[in-house]
Amino acid sequence: MAELRFDGRVAIVTGAGQGLGRQHALELAARGAKVVVNDLGGSLHGSGSSTGPAAAVVEEIKKNGGEAVANTDNVATPEGAEAIVRTALDTFGKLDIVVNNAGILRDKSFKNMAPEEFDQVLAVHLRGSFLVTHAAWPHLREQAYGRVVMTTSPAGLFGNFGQANYSSAKMGLVGLTKTLAAEGAKYNIKVNAIAPIAWTRMTEELFPPEYKEKLSVELVTPVVAWLAHETNESTGETYSVGGGRVARVFVAEGPGFTKQGGLSVEDVRDNWQQINEVEPYLLAKDIGEQTMAVFNAIK
Ligand code: NAD
Repeated sequence: MAELRFDGRVAIVTGAGQGLGRQHALELAARGAKVVVNDLGGSLHGSGSSTGPAAAVVEEIKKNGGEAVANTDNVATPEGAEAIVRTALDTFGKLDIVVNNAGILRDKSFKNMAPEEFDQVLAVHLRGSFLVTHAAWPHLREQAYGRVVMTTSPAGLFGNFGQANYSSAKMGLVGLTKTLAAEGAKYNIKVNAIAPIAWTRMTEELFPPEYKEKLSVELVTPVVAWLAHETNESTGETYSVGGGRVARVFVAEGPGFTKQGGLSVEDVRDNWQQINEVEPYLLAKDIGEQTMAVFNAIK
């Protein structure tokens, strides 16, 4: 089978100054894509900024014979998102791929989490992914081609102590992924999400040291590159990726309990076990299929 190439494609990778985003940018560029390496260059908590990380990755790509341009705009503002997309169009004349990867952490137990700490994390992960994709969308639609990869997290999919802000943002991205997949279908825009696990500055204090090599960022990027490739036909999906393991994560609905002609609180109590059954489950491809399942149960 032929090697997967990205010649002639232009990609934006946000938060690509280090960690996962850097690896995504290096890989796409090594396979022929022209890459906008976006990174604000701030701390893990989102404070400060620096032009250094994005510039260093661009230098690395160029040294390897690839093409890239640095951008240090903030994904969390409409002006920043517009400027990131404009950098792709002004430098390379088009845009095909958006990898929304930029992120910060403001972990706190829910009791101690200030509203600003909730807002700041949603602003970068969820609003930032919305803004950059929204700025790119008219161009992707117009050329009837696009590949968008969101970065969600196991913390959002399954919950995590101390991450009410982060998990809300990350599960929000799953909804955004599914809705954009529906809206992009007509225009050959495929939108998917990864839920990675990798050794970066975000996780180096959480994982035991012996996992440093096993959880290298190189073991996440192949899934991003595949989802960003023109031959990928999947859309609206989420994939858990880490350490060389890749698995589809899905939202499904159990068979449920149905009673015609009125449902009482006691009916709910008495049928709680059936209500909590997970099999056989329905894996609806869209809201239409899920709504039909309800209609069929009550008709
Ligand atoms: P990282 O801190 O190494 O990289 C994140 C990058 O985003 C940084 O370089 C930072 O400067 C940049 N950034 C932050 N705010 C920005 C903004 N407003 N505009 C532009 N750039 C900004 O962390 P990472 O582990 O590589 O994380 C990458 C993504 O993967 C994040 O969305 C993170 O939530 C997600 N993720 C990582 C893991 C993991 O195990 N490392 C697990 C689940 C999800």
